Amino acid sequence: MPSIFTKIINREIPSYKIAEDEDFYAFLDINPNAKGHTLCIPKKEVDKIMDLDEPTYLGLMAFSRKVGKAIEAAIDCKRVAMTVIGLEVPHVHVHLIPLNEMKEATFQHKVSLAPEEFSEIAEKIKSKIE
Ligand code: 5GP
Repeated sequence: MPSIFTKIINREIPSYKIAEDEDFYAFLDINPNAKGHTLCIPKKEVDKIMDLDEPTYLGLMAFSRKVGKAIEAAIDCKRVAMTVIGLEVPHVHVHLIPLNEMKEATFQHKVSLAPEEFSEIAEKIKSKIE
């Protein structure tokens, strides 16, 4: 069965898209640690990051860097954290989290956003993609 993220890539499930190219897709995390928390994923469905082929791994890092720079430009934060962690969804995902406090990196601290806020944040970040 396709992962929930493959369904997002295929538009079977909606998402607040940030960026997309032939091989990668970025979208806002629906249960964010902080405003602007974004996931970057390869379109190739692979469970664990260490199992990615090297070109896909390196491509994912370059794509995540581009998205991370846009987050830094769009969201008020001290820096953008990058982490690959989690046991829930068996599809590689890089978390990009705008940090002001370390608790935002813990996945215990969540923020609740209205749909309009998600849309506004997505538009802001998208406008800074180079
Ligand atoms: P993990 O595997 O990292 O533990 O969890 C997957 C991450 O994806 C979580 O941060 C969760 O909030 C996010 N997530 C799970 N399902 C969806 C979804 O349907 N849409 C979006 N945008 N994010 C999701």
